[in-house]
Amino acid sequence: MKRVGAHVKTTGGVENAPLNAQAIGAKAFALFTKNQRQWKAKPLSQESIAAFKQNLASVAIAPEFVLPHDSYLINLGHPGKEGLAKSRHAFLDEMQRCQQLGLKLLNFHPGAHLNKISEEASLKRVAESINISLDKIEDVTAVIENTAGQGTNLGYTFEHLAYIIDKVEDKKRVGVCIDTCHTFTAGYDLRTAQSCEKTFSEFDRVVGFKYLRGMHLNDSKPDLGSRVDRHESLGKGKLGLEVFRYIMNDERFDDMPLILETVDSEIWDEEIRLLYSLQHS
Ligand SMILES: [Zn+2]
Ligand SMILES: [Zn+2]
Repeated sequence: MKRVGAHVKTTGGVENAPLNAQAIGAKAFALFTKNQRQWKAKPLSQESIAAFKQNLASVAIAPEFVLPHDSYLINLGHPGKEGLAKSRHAFLDEMQRCQQLGLKLLNFHPGAHLNKISEEASLKRVAESINISLDKIEDVTAVIENTAGQGTNLGYTFEHLAYIIDKVEDKKRVGVCIDTCHTFTAGYDLRTAQSCEKTFSEFDRVVGFKYLRGMHLNDSKPDLGSRVDRHESLGKGKLGLEVFRYIMNDERFDDMPLILETVDSEIWDEEIRLLYSLQHS
């Protein structure tokens, strides 16, 4: 079964996320468990945690279909000692929050080398950062997202994801999230059923579908290989709808969060209906 949703708001508290998901007809959702642009956050209150769990149960979305996203400030491949320590500390806090909320996944961008160290040295740091967190927190899986490769960001090739996974000790608690916009702007074509077949075969060969824990479904403003990260509403960008038809009809994408991060939250309900309408019955 396909579980389509969106990255919903948590205004007024994380406990509102499940209700916001339900309001747009979502069967999955993503959220930030703290302000994504700040380092520090108040711990989640017992009331907030209890209300979140209650609301999640009331909307009948299982925890494995919730894909929390970490703060944009965290860089697990940071070249500097202080920056790396700060990022690892904040990432651990994010994992703890997921665990408190009864959630199973934590989605994050691998990191950036900032032109201070090599890509490989930075990728090694990312893997080590994941190992440190998984050692301390049980039950949460680290879900690495592929990126557009903007600036010095790592994770724009499937080989980068495979390299990190290879160095993570607990393979059961590492996975990946593939963003359609990032994949395309990183240089993998997805505009036709044929190009999807090719790109996802390559993904399977290099990383493996067994590591796929979720997808971000976004159309793209920039063109193939531009290495620029700008999402667009479905069917309104350079990708078009074929990739979404492909995903919605392929069982390798069953039973995992399929999350919209498209630019116009006002039409998420329509986009969710559109995605389900692409399914051949
Ligand atoms: Zn994404
Ligand atoms: Zn993006």
